[in-house]
Amino acid sequence: MITFFCPRCWKEITGDDKKCPYCGADITEHERKGFEDKLINALRHPEQETVQRAVWILGRLKSDRAVKPLIRLFEQSDNPYLKREILDALYEIGLPEAMDFIVKSLRSEISIVRKKAEEIIKRGGNNV
Ligand SMILES: [Zn+2]
Repeated sequence: MITFFCPRCWKEITGDDKKCPYCGADITEHERKGFEDKLINALRHPEQETVQRAVWILGRLKSDRAVKPLIRLFEQSDNPYLKREILDALYEIGLPEAMDFIVKSLRSEISIVRKKAEEIIKRGGNNV
């Protein structure tokens, strides 16, 4: 079964749902196709909470296309907590480019970012 997220309320739903069981949004095939793009666009949303949610979901979806926009967001943001969440999402996605970026973050000037990178690398063991 495919895990999916409602494009309106972003709660977790199944791939079989035609309507969101939480908010009733109509989830058509068309909506599904544009979903990843919408999430990537949400990385530029003015509300921090929305941005963080999009980061988390893109990680869960293992979105290849999100790697570059996530790295860009990391570099532009001055929010260390958001940076930490971006590192987690990059680890979930797991592409070499994402892993290289985590390794690079070991040299971050921000201690909580550095600690997060260390924690991920320990957790990942030989995969990083
Ligand atoms: Zn919903």
